[in-house]
Amino acid sequence: MRRVYLDANATTRAHPEVIEAMSPFYGEKYGNASSAHAFGREAKKHLDRSRQQVSQLIHADSPEEIVFTSGGTESDNLAVKGTAYALKDKGNHIITSSVEHKAVLNTCKYLEDQGFQVTYLGVDRYGIIDPEELRKSIRDDTILITIMSANNETGTILPVEEIGRIAGEKNVVFHTDAVQTIGKMPFDVHAAGADLVSLSAHKINGPKGIGALYIKKGTKIVPCHHGGHHENGRRAGTENIPAAVGLGLSCEIAATEGQELFAGVGRLRDMLRDRIEREIGQTQVNSHPEKCLPNTLNISFRYLEGEAIVLGLDSEGIAVSTGSACTSGELEPSHVLKSMGVELMSLRGAIRFSLDRFNTESDIDYVMKKLPPLIGALRKLSPGYKEE
Ligand SMILES: *Cc1c(COP(=O)(O)O)cnc(C)c1O
Repeated sequence: MRRVYLDANATTRAHPEVIEAMSPFYGEKYGNASSAHAFGREAKKHLDRSRQQVSQLIHADSPEEIVFTSGGTESDNLAVKGTAYALKDKGNHIITSSVEHKAVLNTCKYLEDQGFQVTYLGVDRYGIIDPEELRKSIRDDTILITIMSANNETGTILPVEEIGRIAGEKNVVFHTDAVQTIGKMPFDVHAAGADLVSLSAHKINGPKGIGALYIKKGTKIVPCHHGGHHENGRRAGTENIPAAVGLGLSCEIAATEGQELFAGVGRLRDMLRDRIEREIGQTQVNSHPEKCLPNTLNISFRYLEGEAIVLGLDSEGIAVSTGSACTSGELEPSHVLKSMGVELMSLRGAIRFSLDRFNTESDIDYVMKKLPPLIGALRKLSPGYKEE
C-alpha cells in the first residue's frame, strides 16, 4: 500500500545525510567528551562543532549559550523550572498562555503545586494572545514569561517579538518554546528578545532524543539534572555525541536551505487546503490564514469525530493527527482549540495536516483521492449531519 506521511509536527524522518554523519559516533568514534585523551578530544571537537551549528541557526552570540538536552520537553522543563527556582527570592509569578505544549503547561501546573502562581493568558480565535493583556498581567513579582513561538496543533505564529519587547521593558525573563519554528522559519534570538529558547532535533529532520536550550549569557538558571560539570554545570550527564552531531547537521541544513525549501512546502500545504475547501463542504480552517507555519493546516470537518478520520485515512496508508501526538488517544478535545473557542460541532472534527520536505504533489493527489469519499461515508453515518 502507498504510504503518505503528513504528521511532521509530531516527528519527522531524519535526513539521510544526518544518519550518515551520526553513524561513526556509534562505532569507532566512541569517546567521552569529558576525557583528556585523544578519544575524548575528538568527541569534544564534534560536540563543539554541533554547538556552533545550533548557535548559528538561531543567531546566538556564542556557542556557549547553547545547552544540549534530551529534547524539547527537557528544554522546556529546564527553562521554566530552572528560572522559577533561580529567581524564587525575587518573586513567584509566572505568565504563560493557554495554548502551550504540555511540556510547558504541565511544568507550570507542577510549579503551582510548589507554591508558584501562574497566569494563563487566553487567546483569540486563531490562538494568538493579546500583548496588551500580557502587559497588564505583569506584576512586581513576575519572574518569567513563557510563551511559544508557533503552535504545534494549529501552526499559528505568536507575536514573539512584541512579547519579547514587553518582557524586556519590564525586565522579566522571557522563554519561548520555538520547537515548531526553528528550522521551519528564520529565527533570531535577538529579534525575539528571548532569554531562553527551546528547540528539538526530531521536528526538523534530526534524530529523536536530543534538543537544546539557548540560555542568553548572564541568564540565571538552576539545573534540573545534578552530577558532573557537563554543559558548563547546566545539565549533568555524558553528552549524547551521535545525536548532537545529528542535531548540528540538521540545523546547518535548515540554515542553508530552509527558506526556499519551506516556500515549496507552503505551496503544497496551500494546494491541499484549497482542494479540501473546494472538494469537501462544511469545513473550517482553524489555523491563522496568514500567520501560520508554512507546513501546517488545522481544519475541522463539521459533524465528524477526528479520531474516525485519522483511522479511516490510516487504513489508506495516510498519516495525520487530531492534534498533538502527545494527546491523541485521549478522548478530551484539544485544549488548544477549546481555548480558541472553536464551537463544539467543529471541535471534535479537527484534523492536523503537517507537511515535510519529503512530501510531493502526488502525495496531495493521493490524499485528495481518499479523503472526500471517506468524509462523505462518515457523514452519512453521522446522526447530526445536515447537508447545507
Ligand atoms: C514536540 C514539541 C515539544 C516536545 O519536544 P520533544 O523533543 O518531543 O520532547 C515541545 N514543544 C512543542 C511546541 C513541540 O511541538
